[in-house]
Amino acid sequence: MLYLSTRGHPDRKHFCDILLEGLAPDGGLYLPEHYPQVDDATLARWRTVYHKQGYAELAFEILSLYIDDIPADDLRALCHKTYTAAVFGTGEIVPLRHIEDSLWLEALSNGPTLAFKDMAMQLLGNLFEYELKRRGEQLNILGATSGDTGSAAEHAMRGKEGVRVFMTSPHGRMSAFQQAQMFSLQDENIHNIAIEGVFDDCQDIVKAVSNDLEFKRKYKIGTVNSINWARLLAQVVYYFAGYIQATESNTEQVSFTVPSGNFGNVCAGHVARMMGLPIHTLVVATNENDVLDEFFRTGVYRVRSSADTHETSSPSMDISKASNFERFIFDLLGRDGAQVQALFGDALSQQGYFDLSQHPAFAQAASRYGFCSGKSTHADRLATIRDTHARFGMTIDTHTADGVKVAREHRSPGIAMLVLETALPIKFAETIVEALGHAPERPAKFVGIEDLPKRVQVMPADVAQVKAYIARHCD
Ligand SMILES: *Cc1c(COP(=O)(O)O)cnc(C)c1O
Repeated sequence: MLYLSTRGHPDRKHFCDILLEGLAPDGGLYLPEHYPQVDDATLARWRTVYHKQGYAELAFEILSLYIDDIPADDLRALCHKTYTAAVFGTGEIVPLRHIEDSLWLEALSNGPTLAFKDMAMQLLGNLFEYELKRRGEQLNILGATSGDTGSAAEHAMRGKEGVRVFMTSPHGRMSAFQQAQMFSLQDENIHNIAIEGVFDDCQDIVKAVSNDLEFKRKYKIGTVNSINWARLLAQVVYYFAGYIQATESNTEQVSFTVPSGNFGNVCAGHVARMMGLPIHTLVVATNENDVLDEFFRTGVYRVRSSADTHETSSPSMDISKASNFERFIFDLLGRDGAQVQALFGDALSQQGYFDLSQHPAFAQAASRYGFCSGKSTHADRLATIRDTHARFGMTIDTHTADGVKVAREHRSPGIAMLVLETALPIKFAETIVEALGHAPERPAKFVGIEDLPKRVQVMPADVAQVKAYIARHCD
């Protein structure tokens, strides 16, 4: 399998080359040249694989269709090392929980940091360590986080050979729980940098460092952001595992609702559907930052300014633009790299939006690709958390609540609707208290983490100081 850029660059690359890279040289995102097709017999076999041999073996089956530059035995070992009951809390890894009628939750948040990002990041940690060792190279990951991504990355990379993490975060702006998840790590290869500023300042610093090509090369700076194809690929697996658990035979269809921000999670659902998984509808659920809902309703994709990006109670979906969305538009436009370049390279940077409402392909987003969308607000979120607690005795997190609210608006008779649970409520306890009047249950291993010793360097929002810190901590 070779990979190409969504903006039409002629180069074709193997999996391990794009694993350690960010964007393609023309600024596009990588996608496989084609989506491997899963026929009925294969899907039936995978059903048995999941039930008899488990999630890790299913992951190996799916990943091996996309990765031809890691020997099969090694890839299988990496999958089995990643997806264990010890790391993810259950043997099913992604168990379903029933809510009502045909509505289910698919639990993706029982990994080390209690958000679905662990599903992909844990695999990425093992893939990085494997590939860097094979090449005899080192990588220094520089990132910016407002919470979930940074902690998932640190917990995936801690103690890994050949990798260091430098994670910037806005000083004093993450919840006490999120700070504790990151700052309590004592591993030598993990560096927390708390920036005196907001999340945008952290992102600007990361951009400035990455744009200094000489520094970037000298200190082998890399990223683990959501456009990384390996992260997206790892997420494809749980759409298959959800389908297998919700159905008895391959004649049935299911729908998924996905609490969305950067479009990474639901894009993995799109890939699964393109492979032939019988998905009826992919419902994109947004919060007040409704860039994606606006597109699927109107055909207009309009990125927001920082001033127009709301701080909400489902903060991991507070985005101004959806960084993975280009992948879907590439498929929607018949994989025409020149058109994608005109939209994402030119129109967005010149006028801040593009409009496909009159384009013949736009109607196919729903009719051919199965997408629809909806939006949830703070009031909806509170009402949904209260209602699910009162009627089913279940406490759900704020992002998952956005999913449940929107899922209820898009059910079809006779088709199971799976809402992806993207975090556990303890990560966003303040809003749960606002909704229910009491704090959510805390898993035993997180009791008292706020009191653990912290390892963090506070710094002004100054690129030169961050660079000096990195230089000091690389050999
Ligand atoms: C990252 C995140 C999301 C959004 O996922 P995308 O892949 O960016 O669409 C939703 N919920 C939670 C809890 C997250 O951490």
